[in-house]
Amino acid sequence: MKEKHYTCIICPSGCEITAVLDGEKIVSITGNTCKRGEEYVKNELTCPMRTLTTTVCGFSGRPVAVRTADAIPKAKLFEAMAEVNAFRPSRPVRFGETLIADLAATGVPLIATASEEE
Ligand code: SF4
Repeated sequence: MKEKHYTCIICPSGCEITAVLDGEKIVSITGNTCKRGEEYVKNELTCPMRTLTTTVCGFSGRPVAVRTADAIPKAKLFEAMAEVNAFRPSRPVRFGETLIADLAATGVPLIATASEEE
């Protein structure tokens, strides 16, 4: 048996959660105070997901805040950042605009969370 420890990042409570594993099999999950914490740990053990929050180089050359519309696999973060860093808009970026429709082939779009100043 092996124990893995997590701090749940789903809400600010930050519950300390322990998963007991027998090989790949989950024997128990304890320390979570709600079901979302259990789901978080199960996802961490199988396919960890993260929402990417960063900036792109705007039309003016200044940084513009962006994020993925949903969480993407943690394993895709480097590939996603390479696409983000290579992205150059053809006009000033607007709040809520989809900048990359299918970031790193995840099916998740990259959207602007700010408008570019003109
Ligand atoms: S287990 Fe539930 S209450 Fe605890 S941090 Fe996670 S989401 Fe919040």
